[in-house]
Amino acid sequence: METDIISKLKEANLLGRGGAGFPAALKWELVKKAEGEKKYIICNASEGEPNVFKDRFILEHYPQEVLNGIDLAFEAIGAATAYIYLKHEYFQKYGGRLKKLIGNKPIVLFEKPQGYIAGEETVICNLIEGRRMEPRQRPPFISDKGLFQCPTLMNNVETFYFASKINKGEYKNTRFYSVNGEVKKPGVYELPLQATIEQVLNETNNYPQFDFLAQVGGGAVGEILSKDELGKPAGGAGSITIYNLNKIDCYKLMENWADFLLNGNCDKCVPCREGIYRIKEMAAKKKLNKEDIDLIFNDLEKASFCALGRGAPTAFRGLISKMEKIQNGK
Ligand code: SF4
Repeated sequence: METDIISKLKEANLLGRGGAGFPAALKWELVKKAEGEKKYIICNASEGEPNVFKDRFILEHYPQEVLNGIDLAFEAIGAATAYIYLKHEYFQKYGGRLKKLIGNKPIVLFEKPQGYIAGEETVICNLIEGRRMEPRQRPPFISDKGLFQCPTLMNNVETFYFASKINKGEYKNTRFYSVNGEVKKPGVYELPLQATIEQVLNETNNYPQFDFLAQVGGGAVGEILSKDELGKPAGGAGSITIYNLNKIDCYKLMENWADFLLNGNCDKCVPCREGIYRIKEMAAKKKLNKEDIDLIFNDLEKASFCALGRGAPTAFRGLISKMEKIQNGK
């Protein structure tokens, strides 16, 4: 008897490749079992964080595999319609080809508006429904009440790509990495899932010959690591950005992150709207008051409404601690 796709995803232990790493089989199963008049699929191609571009690579080179993955989801959960939610540039560049490949299947292309928060799953549901660009309270989770209050399966482009590979028996425990920043060969590389950051840099001939910091998991909220901390896999969306310590302007970098978050948040809640603004102010003045910073980070993490605000301190905190070490000559 042929094994069903959810069992295959479970056996392969495929984790979502959008950043959160939720087990794909569990997600598909939840939507399959959820009760609802209709069920929806959303392929999230919003790829909104700086320095992450592996979904663009997959859409460019393997759009049919992504569509095959969506077809498998249709069968597995019994969905009515699928949406491919595309970042503006991807909509412009790949929309035509995708439409041709889709033919008359019930798969709709939806163009994402500007804004980092527009890639959050409940915001995506709101936007497709024509509502405000704001996250929803969870629970209910979208697997129960997502798009139009119906059970919704949302996965990232890479997850659908690998669902197709798993179904064909071609999955080899790999993932895609976006390697960028001050490196010799920036690009997207497919390497083992468990490769350490150091291995990815070495195997792609990108290990720096200068003092550096690495940012992993996204170019605005990703963790900041020094070279003695590269012995673990790159988490999140699998991006690795290298900063040259001889050239880096830490304050400018923090200002850029704050600008990105301020332009990309939804202004719904005070800790995020006000807190990130205050971080930007301090970075612009090149004066970080430790007490203020600690207070803002604490508020962001504990009182923000959604993951954008809660995760915002990660990169700032990492960089500030590294700055202290660098200044102290450690
Ligand atoms: S933390 Fe608040 S302001 Fe920031 S994006 Fe989320 S809901 Fe919007």
